[in-house]
Amino acid sequence: MHFATRAVHAGRVSDGLGSVAPPLVQGVNFEQPRGVASVPRYTRYNNTPTIVLVQQRLASLEGSEAAVCLSSGMGATSCAMLALLRPGDHLLSSAWIYGGTHRLFTEELPKMGIEVTFVDPLESRGWRLGMKDNTRAIFVETPVNPTCRVLDLKPISALTRELGVALVVDSTFASPVNLRPLEHGADIVIASTTKYLNGHHDMLGGAVFGSQAYIDEVTQKMMVWGQAPDPFACWLLERGLKTLHIRVQRQNENAMALAQWCEAHPAFAKVHYPGLPSHADHALAASTMDGFGGMLSLELVGGAAAADRMVEKLALVLHAVSLGGVDTLICEPRFSSHAHMTSGQRAEIGIPDGFLRVSVGIEDVRDIIADFSQALA
Ligand SMILES: *Cc1c(COP(=O)(O)O)cnc(C)c1O
Repeated sequence: MHFATRAVHAGRVSDGLGSVAPPLVQGVNFEQPRGVASVPRYTRYNNTPTIVLVQQRLASLEGSEAAVCLSSGMGATSCAMLALLRPGDHLLSSAWIYGGTHRLFTEELPKMGIEVTFVDPLESRGWRLGMKDNTRAIFVETPVNPTCRVLDLKPISALTRELGVALVVDSTFASPVNLRPLEHGADIVIASTTKYLNGHHDMLGGAVFGSQAYIDEVTQKMMVWGQAPDPFACWLLERGLKTLHIRVQRQNENAMALAQWCEAHPAFAKVHYPGLPSHADHALAASTMDGFGGMLSLELVGGAAAADRMVEKLALVLHAVSLGGVDTLICEPRFSSHAHMTSGQRAEIGIPDGFLRVSVGIEDVRDIIADFSQALA
C-alpha cells in the first residue's frame, strides 16, 4: 500500500472491540499464563499493545525491517550508540549535529572508552581520512539543524559499505515523507518523534530504525537503561502519524512560500532554504529528497538587534524551541541550542548572532507572511 494509507493503517490489529481508533492501553503489567516461563508483557519491555502498534507503523513508514520507540530523541540516539559501540571503538561523526548529540559524543561516550572524532562534511575526502582501524560507524544528521544544509549520503554510504561499518543518519528534520535514508544506503535511522512524526508539540519521544537483529539490541539497551516510552505518548504519536503526510506536504509548501517572500524582502540578508535555487544544496536536495522540508533559517540585514526587534513584534508566530509541529515557531540558536558556544564559535559553523530558525507550521501561509510583514514594519 502507499505511504498515506500505511500512515493511517499500518500495524493495526483487531482489539476485539471493533474500535476504529486504536485503544490506549495504559496498563503497565498484564496477567501471565501460570506455571510456564514466558517474557511478561511490561511497559518497560516495549511489548504492550499501544507501543507495538506504533512501532510497526513507524517501521512501515521509514521502510525498515523493525523500529523501536524510546522516551525521547536523545534516548533514541543514546541507546542506538550503546547498542552499536563497545569500549575501544571509534565513531566518526559529522561536525554538524544537534547540540544534545554533540554533548553525548563529547562528554559521555569518551567516558565509556569510545572515541569520537568529527569531520567537516564539506571536505569531500574527510570521511575516508577520518577512518581508523577501530571505526565502527559514521554518524550524520541531514538536513542539518539549524543551517538547513543537506548532506549527500551517496558517497558516505559507498565508503561505509566498502569498509563494512554502519552508517547512522539522524533524519529528524526530514521525516520519512521527505527523505528515507535507508533508500540511500543508511543502515540505521534515528528520529526524534517529538518533532514531525508526532507534529503537535504535545509528546516527547524518539525512534530507532534498522534490521530486526539490531533493533533487538537497541531494545535491550532501552530496557536496561530505562528509556522506554509511556503508552500515552505512543498513542499520541500514533494519532499524529495518521496526518504526517498531509502536515508535511503543507509545511513544505508553506516553507517554500515563506522562503520566497523573505528572499524578495530587503530586510533579509540571507534566506537558508533548500528549496531556493540560491541554496548551496538545492540541486542535491531536489534530486535526493521528495520535499524541501518545513525548516528555514534567516539572517537580517540589521543583524542581532534587528532579529531581536522582529522576534519581539511577531504575534502569530511563537518564540519557542523545538520544531516540526502544526504551529509556526521561531527561535534564535544563540539563546537555545547553541547557547553553550561563543559568538565566534557559532559564526564559524554558519550561525552568526541574529540567525533565526523558523519551523513552519500548517497555518494559512498568508497569515504567517502577514505576521512577518507587520513585525518587520
Ligand atoms: C530535537 C532533536 C533531537 C533530540 O530529540 P528530543 O526528542 O528532544 O530528545 C535529536 N536530533 C535532532 C536533529 C533534533 O532536532
